[in-house]
Amino acid sequence: QSTRELLLSRIRDVADYPKPGVVFKDITPLLADPKAFTALTEALAETCVRHGATKIIGLEARGFILAAPVAVRAGVGFIPVRKAGKLPGATLAQAYELEYGTAEIEVHAEDLEAGDRVLVIDDVLATGGTAEASLELVRRAGADVVGVAVLMELAFLKGRERLEPALHGAPLEAL
Ligand code: 5GP
Repeated sequence: QSTRELLLSRIRDVADYPKPGVVFKDITPLLADPKAFTALTEALAETCVRHGATKIIGLEARGFILAAPVAVRAGVGFIPVRKAGKLPGATLAQAYELEYGTAEIEVHAEDLEAGDRVLVIDDVLATGGTAEASLELVRRAGADVVGVAVLMELAFLKGRERLEPALHGAPLEAL
């Protein structure tokens, strides 16, 4: 069984969540399986090392679960990007468009420095709005983006197209 098959077999489709007509990709069975979670962590750590990242950003909330063990494994720092109002210190904030309305994410300004090489990690790329906003935060902090790595890309939502201009040529890698 390939890593890809193992990971796919541990993702559960939940119909009509969080609202009717949506099929939610639930990664909790993958997290509950140590073989699958380890394989995912190792694959993402390999991506981190291959791109020479010095910091990993995890996107709230499932991105934290994936990014933290990857950072430890790869020997680089972990930085949380949180929904607005959750971080206690001085933050940089970035608003972005949702299907209905807007959202805002924040990072602690002093955790990112000029010259940092940042890999952004999340579980799912859907419309790409969250990842796009996180790349703006990284650049506004003066750091460089070396890539975005996700477990899963929901290709029909065309997040890759939305993200493309913000990547500035860096790769989007979906396992
Ligand atoms: P986007 O900003 O790309 O539209 O949404 C991505 C964010 O929403 C990610 O942080 C991701 O965790 C969450 N998300 C959207 N759809 C799904 C889904 O089907 N499954 C999971 N696990 N997360 C999702």
